[in-house]
Amino acid sequence: MTSATPLTPVEQARYSRQMLLPQVGPEGQQRLRDARVLVVGSGGLGAPVSLYLAAAGVGHITLLDNDVVELSNLQRQIIFDTASVGQPKAVAAAQRLRALNPEITVVAAVETLTVDNAESWITSADLVLDCCDNFPTRYLINDFCHHLGTPWLFAALHQFRGHFALFSADTACFRCLYPRTPVTEGNCSLAGVMGTVPGLLGLWQANEAIKHLLRLPDSQPGHLWNCDALRSTMTAIRLVADPTCWCGQKHPDPRALHTHSLESWDREELELTWHEWQVLATDKALLLDVRSEQEHRAANAGGEWLAWPEITARLTQLGGKSPVGLYCQRGQRSLALARELRAQGFRQVFSIRGGLESHH
Ligand SMILES: [Zn+2]
Repeated sequence: MTSATPLTPVEQARYSRQMLLPQVGPEGQQRLRDARVLVVGSGGLGAPVSLYLAAAGVGHITLLDNDVVELSNLQRQIIFDTASVGQPKAVAAAQRLRALNPEITVVAAVETLTVDNAESWITSADLVLDCCDNFPTRYLINDFCHHLGTPWLFAALHQFRGHFALFSADTACFRCLYPRTPVTEGNCSLAGVMGTVPGLLGLWQANEAIKHLLRLPDSQPGHLWNCDALRSTMTAIRLVADPTCWCGQKHPDPRALHTHSLESWDREELELTWHEWQVLATDKALLLDVRSEQEHRAANAGGEWLAWPEITARLTQLGGKSPVGLYCQRGQRSLALARELRAQGFRQVFSIRGGLESHH
């Protein structure tokens, strides 16, 4: 339902370029004006996301962040300027959005999302944007959004790579994909980040959000997009719901998940030692080195090397009948890939713990 109030002449002038699009028009613009979005995090992702949503006329934007602007943020958190250093991020970002577009309502909350406040924040949103930098918050968003039937847009990045996905009540949930925090998680302060990467990811997130709010038919939930800004590539995989996941229960209670450690959700053995792999491996088993071709040539523990796009084709060929072991240098890349492949439905895939470095 869009509001009956017609757009004012000022709104018509402000949004005229996008309203010319047949996918938007006055009705779409009214939809955007009526929309309520919750942006969790006002950092590298939250900056471009909230700027573009505000500029496009998304009518109600709530920013949730309890952090303070630091000088080292300015390289990528383009919503702030040098004078913002020392201010609460949510407050400084809200000021910038109000200056950009006084036609919309912006609420700034200097707090973090917790198990106690998640329901009240998420209930009042039509769409939640995950612009945070940590897995506990992301699991909270997933669990309460799933519980309340609120769609949410996930995005995360690591150095030059990033992912985004739209999760809704009809798709797999985030726990289907990541039953526990991936070991490859590293935040920008430790791993480093190129400022353009959260910019690119944040723009995709804003673009997906606008498409979703406009109810465009080509909005594509249930796909995980992988972006590599170093190689300039983008690929998508379809997310498959895990029938054993929490989200498949009849009356799942999100609070119960956050009273236990996340480790209790690691229901299924994803990692094997080399010894366990040797016990499991038959003559039909497939061992894959998932490092670069160059690394494989320099030293390897046997098995085949395949380019990443060829891996899924090879696994499809095996038809799930034979175990597949993945190894890399230390077991982190192979674990991340094994998780992605499991999410695609390849249940026979295992990551070898410790990788080449633990092979004797
Ligand atoms: Zn799930």
